[in-house]
Amino acid sequence: MKINKKILIVAALIFLIVDCALLSYKILFKKEYPHRVHKPKIDYKYSVFLTSDDGPLVGSKYLDQIVRDYEVPFTIFLVGKPMSSDKKLMTNLLRYKSNPYALLANHSFTHANFHYKKFYSDPKGVEKDFIKNEKYLKLTSKIGRLPGRNVYSIGDVTKGEPNALKAAKLLSKDRDYKFYGWDYELRHSSDAKITESSAIKHYNRIKELLKSGKTFRKNEIIILMHDQMFTSLESQETLGELILLLQDDEEIKLKTLKEYKL
Ligand SMILES: [Zn+2]
Repeated sequence: MKINKKILIVAALIFLIVDCALLSYKILFKKEYPHRVHKPKIDYKYSVFLTSDDGPLVGSKYLDQIVRDYEVPFTIFLVGKPMSSDKKLMTNLLRYKSNPYALLANHSFTHANFHYKKFYSDPKGVEKDFIKNEKYLKLTSKIGRLPGRNVYSIGDVTKGEPNALKAAKLLSKDRDYKFYGWDYELRHSSDAKITESSAIKHYNRIKELLKSGKTFRKNEIIILMHDQMFTSLESQETLGELILLLQDDEEIKLKTLKEYKL
């Protein structure tokens, strides 16, 4: 009987020690490496800025989930008009607002109603449209992207179609806005599927562009996507794989446009 008691006590102690060891291993492991996408980048060379336009739309909730699942910095350019006529989109806006990895930015209220030439013939009107969107969506970042035009206006550094650039410069002067275009696009077809579904092909092209210095600013690349493409499972999968490839690259760090350098 005595021996049995001793065995039980020893067994209980062994269990306790093993359990504590496992628990501390788990805690330590979690502290060092919370997610496999958080690989430390001590000597990174390139900055990659993932961006998506035109939300909140139906596809936004899928993009929001990808951004959360991969814990990846992302800049989201928002348009207010679709939400003003479809209140269900409000849920997707609220998802973005509570997403700690997303930087929310301004992409105009009307998206020029898709008549760009007319829209940019009136820079004051463009300014009003952006301010309306800022107020409607309660945006605070002062980061913008013009609808339908690849324009940069960051302080004195500017590039793009002259009329659109005039509007961007006006908003920079009056409202302290910075405007960002893009270097590379993940295109999609009318059924929302990504045109090129191979993530490794996109990754290789992004790497080539960075190495050749053919981006707007050296060692930085802005990637354009659109919220509506993420209703497609194929688009979701390609983006997920691309994020993992980028995160796994020692030379690359993913950032929001708040960290874009001139
Ligand atoms: Zn757009």
